[in-house]
Amino acid sequence: MSDKTLTCRDCGAEFLFTENEQAFYREKGFQNEPQRCPNCRAAKKDRQRDGGRDGYGGGYARQMYPAVCAQCGRQTEVPFRPSPDKPVYCKDCFQPKERRRDRY
Ligand SMILES: [Zn+2]
Ligand SMILES: [Zn+2]
Repeated sequence: MSDKTLTCRDCGAEFLFTENEQAFYREKGFQNEPQRCPNCRAAKKDRQRDGGRDGYGGGYARQMYPAVCAQCGRQTEVPFRPSPDKPVYCKDCFQPKERRRDRY
Protein backbone atom coordinates (compact mmCIF):
# COMPACT_ATOMS: atom_id res chain seq x y z
CA MET A 1 0.00 0.00 0.00
CA SER A 2 1.16 3.51 -0.72
CA ASP A 3 -0.23 6.98 -1.24
CA LYS A 4 -2.10 7.47 -4.48
CA THR A 5 -2.32 10.61 -6.53
CA LEU A 6 -5.83 11.26 -7.75
CA THR A 7 -7.22 14.02 -9.93
CA CYS A 8 -10.08 16.14 -8.67
CA ARG A 9 -12.98 15.95 -11.04
CA ASP A 10 -14.17 19.43 -10.10
CA CYS A 11 -11.04 21.54 -10.40
CA GLY A 12 -8.62 19.08 -11.99
CA ALA A 13 -6.06 19.49 -9.23
CA GLU A 14 -4.06 16.49 -8.15
CA PHE A 15 -4.38 15.45 -4.57
CA LEU A 16 -3.12 12.62 -2.40
CA PHE A 17 -5.28 9.72 -1.42
CA THR A 18 -3.10 8.69 1.47
CA GLU A 19 -2.58 5.25 2.88
CA ASN A 20 -4.52 6.25 5.94
CA GLU A 21 -7.45 7.44 3.90
CA GLN A 22 -7.39 4.33 1.78
CA ALA A 23 -7.51 2.26 4.95
CA PHE A 24 -10.36 4.41 6.22
CA TYR A 25 -12.29 3.94 2.99
CA ARG A 26 -11.74 0.19 3.07
CA GLU A 27 -12.89 0.07 6.65
CA LYS A 28 -16.08 1.91 5.74
CA GLY A 29 -16.60 -0.41 2.80
CA PHE A 30 -16.49 2.40 0.24
CA GLN A 31 -15.95 1.03 -3.25
CA ASN A 32 -15.04 4.33 -4.86
CA GLU A 33 -11.98 6.45 -4.47
CA PRO A 34 -12.63 10.07 -3.60
CA GLN A 35 -13.59 12.13 -6.63
CA ARG A 36 -12.67 15.55 -5.33
CA CYS A 37 -9.68 17.19 -3.73
CA PRO A 38 -10.05 18.24 -0.08
CA ASN A 39 -10.66 21.86 -1.11
CA CYS A 40 -13.57 21.00 -3.34
CA ARG A 41 -14.95 18.59 -0.78
CA ALA A 42 -14.92 21.34 1.83
CA ALA A 43 -16.46 23.81 -0.60
CA LYS A 44 -19.21 21.37 -1.46
CA LYS A 45 -19.95 20.79 2.20
CA ASP A 46 -20.17 24.54 2.75
CA ARG A 47 -22.58 24.93 -0.11
CA GLN A 48 -24.78 22.17 1.23
CA ARG A 49 -24.77 23.70 4.67
CA ASP A 50 -25.70 27.12 3.27
CA GLY A 51 -28.46 25.65 1.17
CA GLY A 52 -29.85 23.85 4.17
CA ARG A 53 -29.78 27.00 6.22
CA ASP A 54 -31.60 28.92 3.50
CA GLY A 55 -34.29 26.30 3.17
CA TYR A 56 -34.76 26.20 6.89
CA GLY A 57 -34.70 29.98 7.22
CA GLY A 58 -37.65 30.28 4.86
CA GLY A 59 -40.14 28.73 7.22
CA TYR A 60 -38.40 29.91 10.34
CA ALA A 61 -37.92 33.55 9.40
CA ARG A 62 -40.51 35.73 11.08
CA GLN A 63 -40.98 34.82 14.66
CA MET A 64 -42.53 38.02 16.01
CA TYR A 65 -43.20 38.95 19.60
CA PRO A 66 -45.96 41.26 20.72
CA ALA A 67 -44.75 44.36 22.53
CA VAL A 68 -45.93 47.79 23.54
CA CYS A 69 -44.07 50.76 22.14
CA ALA A 70 -42.26 52.66 24.88
CA GLN A 71 -42.71 55.91 23.03
CA CYS A 72 -46.30 56.03 21.82
CA GLY A 73 -47.82 53.12 23.77
CA ARG A 74 -49.15 51.37 20.69
CA GLN A 75 -49.22 47.60 20.29
CA THR A 76 -46.49 46.44 17.99
CA GLU A 77 -44.49 43.36 17.09
CA VAL A 78 -40.77 42.96 17.22
CA PRO A 79 -38.56 40.25 15.69
CA PHE A 80 -36.81 39.57 19.00
CA ARG A 81 -38.02 38.67 22.47
CA PRO A 82 -38.64 41.97 24.22
CA SER A 83 -36.80 42.26 27.51
CA PRO A 84 -38.52 44.05 30.40
CA ASP A 85 -35.62 46.37 31.11
CA LYS A 86 -35.18 47.57 27.54
CA PRO A 87 -37.65 49.85 25.80
CA VAL A 88 -39.28 48.58 22.63
CA TYR A 89 -40.38 50.89 19.89
CA CYS A 90 -42.86 50.44 17.12
CA LYS A 91 -41.84 50.94 13.51
CA ASP A 92 -42.87 54.59 13.56
CA CYS A 93 -40.89 55.43 16.68
CA PHE A 94 -37.90 53.25 15.90
CA GLN A 95 -36.22 55.23 13.21
CA PRO A 96 -32.68 55.84 12.13
CA LYS A 97 -31.01 58.67 13.97
CA GLU A 98 -30.92 60.98 10.95
CA ARG A 99 -34.67 61.03 10.65
CA ARG A 100 -35.18 61.32 14.37
CA ARG A 101 -32.98 64.38 14.40
CA ASP A 102 -35.29 65.96 11.85
CA ARG A 103 -38.26 65.61 14.14
CA TYR A 104 -36.77 67.51 17.01
ZN1 LIG B 1 -10.78 20.21 -6.52
ZN1 LIG C 1 -44.35 53.97 18.80
